[in-house]
Amino acid sequence: MISSAEQKMQFLYSLRSSGVTNKRVLTAMETIDRRSYVSDTFADNAYEDTPLPIGCGQTISQPSIVAIMTEALDVQPRDKVLEIGTGSGYQAAILSRLARRIYTVDRHSILVQAARNVFKEQDIPNITTFTADGSRGLPDQAPFDRIIVTAASEDPPTTLLDQLRLGGIMVLPVGQSDSMQRLVKIKKTENGLEYHELRSVRFVPLLEGLGKTSV
Ligand code: SAH
Repeated sequence: MISSAEQKMQFLYSLRSSGVTNKRVLTAMETIDRRSYVSDTFADNAYEDTPLPIGCGQTISQPSIVAIMTEALDVQPRDKVLEIGTGSGYQAAILSRLARRIYTVDRHSILVQAARNVFKEQDIPNITTFTADGSRGLPDQAPFDRIIVTAASEDPPTTLLDQLRLGGIMVLPVGQSDSMQRLVKIKKTENGLEYHELRSVRFVPLLEGLGKTSV
């Protein structure tokens, strides 16, 4: 078995190999310990560049994809960010190091509760969690400077685009759940929406309504 220091070195290496160079993003990912966001069952796998099960049939994303999405979101220190798909809370925790305030939404209350507990344990003060159908966004808190969706939809949800501030950026996987999805970055400009396709990815689907409470 390799030591934890060695595991962490490999973790950082896999982030750099994914092509992410933004210093703020790399520092945030070095600071937030992925081990805190996976269950004891997967403790040995916490620093591997793979998705891992988190319950409710969901997964914590692969670290290199988290890094790529975070870099693409181009978060600024004063930003108000909306994340759809809290899952383990790992992506939200990384964003919390980079932006002023994070609102994160998941349809599974069990996952939201678990993530909220970790944020408390880790003394992360600037994340607000919600159990809700995130495809509706959070109209009461809108507009947002940045929106990140960590579950795939066939098209970018217009409700979410409406909640993005002018000049804002949204990053999300687009495509059918069991086929090839593309990671897309959308910028809202005065002349309309600018789309950039980043790479192919595989995410769980964005589903409507709330999740069942049983795991
Ligand atoms: N960002 C997470 C990984 C997300 S996995 C992390 O860092 O661990 C995708 C998550 O999207 C799942 O937890 C799933 O429950 C959630 N999800 C799917 N459809 C949703 C919807 N309509 N509203 C809110 N959350 C949704």
